[in-house]
Amino acid sequence: MMSKAGIRRCCLLVVFALLALWTGCETVTPPTTPTPPSTPTPDPPTSSGVTVVIDPGHGGSTRVGGSSPNNATSYSGKLEKHLTLELGQLVRDKLNALSPDLNVVMTRTSDVNVGLSARANRARDTGAVVFVSLHFNAFNASARGVETHVRPGGDGGNVNLTKDRGLAQRIQSRVFSALKSHDANAKDRGLKETRLAVLNDLSLGNSASQSRNRACLLEIEFIDVQTVDRVLNIAPNPAQVKRDVAEAIAEGIIADIDANS
Ligand SMILES: [Zn+2]
Repeated sequence: MMSKAGIRRCCLLVVFALLALWTGCETVTPPTTPTPPSTPTPDPPTSSGVTVVIDPGHGGSTRVGGSSPNNATSYSGKLEKHLTLELGQLVRDKLNALSPDLNVVMTRTSDVNVGLSARANRARDTGAVVFVSLHFNAFNASARGVETHVRPGGDGGNVNLTKDRGLAQRIQSRVFSALKSHDANAKDRGLKETRLAVLNDLSLGNSASQSRNRACLLEIEFIDVQTVDRVLNIAPNPAQVKRDVAEAIAEGIIADIDANS
């Protein structure tokens, strides 16, 4: 027969054993559901999803939505609408070559005319960050030079004037350098603030609270000047001149995207 002290020791041992069992249960880690291996997601390229709209001015044979089918005609008879389309396609190809992740949208790819607001709407509808309209000039057969237009600020004007001027200057300076390398008499006419319908903020999708699109209109040169027409369209190497101008425009656009990202 067990003594009282023995019974107490025995009870204490049982309590300790239960405590040990309970404490042990606390430390048991419940089984977990195995996590399936995750699929690695590559980092998107910085220019991925960035859209640029290139707008070759004019086209077709009739006036559409404020856009005339053709304005300037070169000294040798070349039409501005054909030159803008050819240059626009060169700019598109150069942008694709320099930055394959860019989404380049053209307002036209054939000899058709597109209304001015419809051209700008391509930027609004695609959420483009840059819109560049391409034109060639003509005046009195002697005035010459490259100039880039932006919409002026002020009441009902440009909510994005500073950014637009930045884009315009990046393109203007590069195109002037490209022309100068082929033509010692090339002239830099600088930036102009002009109220142009194709640069209308509402059509481009800009507002005072959200100005996502930078836009400008480039007048490459006055093609009614005989020496300009010769460099751009006749001799000694008009194809190279156009490629160099297209590259200058593409590099200006990419520099502007980099500066604003
Ligand atoms: Zn024009």
